[in-house]
Amino acid sequence: MSLHLYDTWTRSLREFTPLQPGEVGLYTCGPTVYDYQHIGNYRTFLFEDGLKRVLRLNGLKVNHVMNITDVGHLVSDGDDGEDKMEKGSRRTGKTAWDIAALYTESFVGDLKLLGIDFPTTLCKATDNIPEQIAFIEEIEKKGYTYITSDGVYFDTAKQQSYGYLGRLDIKGLQAGARVDLGEKRNATDYALWKFSKPEDKRQMEWDAPWGRGFPGWHIECSAMAHKYLGEYFDIHCGGEDHITVHHTNEISQSEAAYGSRLSNYWMHGYFLLTNDAKMSKSAGEFLRVQLLIDKGYDPIAYRYLCLTAHYRTQMTFSWESLDAAQIALDRLRLNIHSMGAPGSQPNAEYVAKFMDKLNDDLNFPQALALTFEVSKSDLPNAEKKATLLKFDEAFGLGFASWQPKEVDVPENVRTVADARWAARNAKDWAEADRLRGELTALGWTMKDGKDAYTLTKL
Ligand code: AMP
Ligand code: ZN
Repeated sequence: MSLHLYDTWTRSLREFTPLQPGEVGLYTCGPTVYDYQHIGNYRTFLFEDGLKRVLRLNGLKVNHVMNITDVGHLVSDGDDGEDKMEKGSRRTGKTAWDIAALYTESFVGDLKLLGIDFPTTLCKATDNIPEQIAFIEEIEKKGYTYITSDGVYFDTAKQQSYGYLGRLDIKGLQAGARVDLGEKRNATDYALWKFSKPEDKRQMEWDAPWGRGFPGWHIECSAMAHKYLGEYFDIHCGGEDHITVHHTNEISQSEAAYGSRLSNYWMHGYFLLTNDAKMSKSAGEFLRVQLLIDKGYDPIAYRYLCLTAHYRTQMTFSWESLDAAQIALDRLRLNIHSMGAPGSQPNAEYVAKFMDKLNDDLNFPQALALTFEVSKSDLPNAEKKATLLKFDEAFGLGFASWQPKEVDVPENVRTVADARWAARNAKDWAEADRLRGELTALGWTMKDGKDAYTLTKL
């Protein structure tokens, strides 16, 4: 089966054909670095990482651009309220620039912990202010802007196609917002450039033809996608919350400036929920990667957990589900480790089956289920292992480098295990069985690999 991906633009599965043969231009909306990212954010980044891996397994080279939002994302996700960065600065007592650096560094660290491949280009909004100003000038030239006392706005009524991605009910939105419009002409109009108010004493502000201020949130993605990937590229991703506002406005800006809907495919990762509510950094226990580590989990267990749900379904997080993921992952790791050295070739039939699952809109849950089928199959261990290592190019669970933690094995257990290994190698089965019984009595079980054994606690 050739690769098929669900495109939010058409609301359908489409066969994926790159615009340039052999290459994919991919833009994914990155983190807003006013605080740590929560594991919900990482569910989206993990989905995008899975997509990249599947594209590569289909023989495509991926040029991946991700932005860092370090200015302009207002607390409301719209055009009101404080800039998240300036708010973060007040909360922590650090400068807006310092918190951007701190949380960007933490984000990069988390990517490593979760085994997420680094983007080809990671670009900051604040490093691309002239590009954003030039982009707004282009939109202005085409006649889509107006100026209020608050900033430069996009007049969405002038754009016939506005809101198609989100299938927005423009008339309904307009009717609902009539009283709150202020100087905005239409409910869906959005800021391209906001003026600094002297009382705000902003730390991040720049001169622009319309007045000193800062860019609206959406313009950074249109401008950086344009700079690094051109007017029209293959795939644009983000979380499902971006469909109706952020991506709708990115498309609107790019269509106004360049007559292109920016990207050929629009893909969205569905939310991670907690207790039926959206995750929030301000509410209760802050679910960050470090919290998982502090509680004794391997961050890769969270990666595994995300593989068990399709990216187009919401997933409710619970510690019990993470426990189950950690146990399943550990079993799989141990099992693969005990298979010994991998053969030179994976099993072609299983790999073809695996690719069919992945190419069916990234069906990772079914691809993962195939792992157990391979493990239980009667293939020789070396071929099994080569096949599972091939699968791991998509999973990113790090099977090849994983080693059982043997530091925790008590000395007396180790002595019995070594004796049993020696008895087994000397084909003294009776003694080997006796020693296995001794190990069980000590609360351990021993699995024999080709060249080594592994011990697990019962
Ligand atoms: P932000 O840091 O808010 O700019 O978000 C970074 C990415 O995480 C975006 O693609 C969001 O759509 C996504 N995101 C935010 N909250 C969640 C969540 N609860 N589950 C999955 N993805 C999310
Ligand atoms: Zn974006």
